[in-house]
Amino acid sequence: MSVAENLAEIKGRVSEACRRSGRDESEVSLIAVSKTWPAEHVQKAVDAGQNVFGENKLQEGQDKIPVMDSDLEWHYIGGLQRNKVRKVLGLFHVVHSLDNLKLVKYTDGVAKDMGINPRVLLQVNIGEEESKGGFSADQLRENFAEISKLENITVVGLMCIPPAVAEPELARVWFKKVSDLRDELQQLHEISLPELSMGMSGDFEVAIEEGSTMVRVGTSIFGTR
Ligand SMILES: *Cc1c(COP(=O)(O)O)cnc(C)c1O
Repeated sequence: MSVAENLAEIKGRVSEACRRSGRDESEVSLIAVSKTWPAEHVQKAVDAGQNVFGENKLQEGQDKIPVMDSDLEWHYIGGLQRNKVRKVLGLFHVVHSLDNLKLVKYTDGVAKDMGINPRVLLQVNIGEEESKGGFSADQLRENFAEISKLENITVVGLMCIPPAVAEPELARVWFKKVSDLRDELQQLHEISLPELSMGMSGDFEVAIEEGSTMVRVGTSIFGTR
C-alpha cells in the first residue's frame, strides 16, 4: 500500500475509535512519525494532506524540517539531552518528551533566553520501567506544583510509552492510569492539561478510547523501518 493509502486507512481507524468512544474526531490529532525516513518519503504524506509530523532525533529534524514546507507542524518525541534543548526548541513546535524535573527547569530557562514559550508535554514512565525515561506517577505528583509555576513553557499534557504488551487491549490499563493521573493533577492544581500523547501503530485505537488526543503513528503510515 502507498503512504496515501496507509494514511487514509489510519484516519478511518481513528474516526472509528472516536465514534466507538463517543468522542469528537477534532479532539484527536494524528502525528505521523517520520523518523528514519528521508524527506522525499515524508513528502508523500504531505502530498496526501498530512501536516503534523513527529521525529525522535534532533539530527533528523535538522535534515528534514528546513527543506520541507514551512507550514508543517513538527513534534519532538525522542529522548532529550540538555545540550540539544536549544536547537530542538528552535526547530520543533511541540516537545513531548520532557522526562525529569531538571530537564523541565532547564528547558524553561532556555525558552526564556530565546524569548519563546513552547508547548511541552511531560513524559510519564507509567510502568516504572528501568529501560524508559519519564517521571513516575509519584514523582510527577511531587514535582508538579513546581513545574506548573514555570512561566516560559506551556505544559499542555502528559505523554507515555507504556510497557510492551502482547495485544493492544492489554495496553488499556496503562493508558487509563495516565488519563487518571492527568485528571488528578488538573483537579489538584486547578489547571488545564488538555493533551494526552498516547498510542502508536499497535495500540492507537485503544489509546483513543482511553482519551488520547495525540496519537503517534509511524510504521503503519510509512512502512517498516
Ligand atoms: C517510533 C515512535 C513512535 C511510532 O511508533 P510506530 O510503532 O512506528 O507507530 C511513537 N512514539 C515514539 C516516542 C516513537 O519513538
